[in-house]
Amino acid sequence: MKKVTIVGAGRVGESTAHNLAKSELCREVMLIDVKDGVPQGAALDIQESAPQFGFDTKLRGSVNLKDMAGSDLVIVTAGIPRKPGMSRSDVLDTNLGILYGIVDEMLKVAPDAKLLIVSNPVDILTYAAWKRTGWSRNRIFGMAGVLDSSRMASFIAMETGYSVKDVTAMVLGGHGDTMVPMIRFTCINGIPVSEFLSLEKIEEIIERTRGGGAEILALKQTGSAYDAPAASVTAMVSAISDDRKRILPCVAVLDGEYGEKDICMGVPVVLGENGMEKVIDLELTENESAEFKRSIKSIRADMERLTT
Ligand code: NAD
Repeated sequence: MKKVTIVGAGRVGESTAHNLAKSELCREVMLIDVKDGVPQGAALDIQESAPQFGFDTKLRGSVNLKDMAGSDLVIVTAGIPRKPGMSRSDVLDTNLGILYGIVDEMLKVAPDAKLLIVSNPVDILTYAAWKRTGWSRNRIFGMAGVLDSSRMASFIAMETGYSVKDVTAMVLGGHGDTMVPMIRFTCINGIPVSEFLSLEKIEEIIERTRGGGAEILALKQTGSAYDAPAASVTAMVSAISDDRKRILPCVAVLDGEYGEKDICMGVPVVLGENGMEKVIDLELTENESAEFKRSIKSIRADMERLTT
């Protein structure tokens, strides 16, 4: 890709910009924020690390959304993050207004872009962006499952003591309390995790994964997680920019898969140069299906707030 714009030069946005630049996943990274000086300063700071890291990606910062012009990919990390005790849904109204402002300008200046939503509540904002643009669903997707799976894999590695390089975890469903960890697809080098951990331990890990964001928020108090989120966004950008056809859990618009339509949900998808190229429609067990439906119900409850 030539140009990637990140709107929202806060913690996740800045860390993502650094990752993209260092990995040379595009030629130019544009960082945009409403706070004058912040995106420009962040871009310059990262640019000055180039001689040390040996990358020649160009970075620019701006407070003007028009500078999204010509982007191949726009990543939305703008918004207010949760404070301790707040749920992701509590920030919906504010972040929805911010999202619409970005999307409306993007439609004018970067009509051929793809759109990756990170801001919360990510399932609802991805759906709202899809509706607002009228674009085909392959061009709009959200980041949640890569992060949730990454957290779960980390906890499994910590618990077993085995290398995280061998752990694969799969998390579906909404981002938050209703996420659906898929234990039967969670393995250590192909061996089901149940061979290594008791059911009780696995349940503990699932609960810790569900509260993974809140755990970090409670520890830091004044800021939420950004390193693992930015790394997860970077994995998705790499899949698209290098047309890797990776199968990653992402927030995607469902069109009949899992028996659902007209909703955004965390499901395994194929990510490649065309964006979200395919939803992998898995047959769910009775238990998984019940959890998935619970997740759908909670997302639909939030979706109702889009029209009221
Ligand atoms: P942050 O407060 O550090 O950064 C947000 C930035 O957005 C701020 O710099 C703010 O000035 C900017 N902003 C606000 N309104 C804007 C607008 N209209 N245009 C451009 N910029 C604007 O927050 P953060 O920790 O970087 O988190 C960013 C978002 O990502 C939050 O909504 C957070 O909940 C979400 N998040 C999602 C995931 C996920 O898994 N999907 C993970 C982590 C964070």
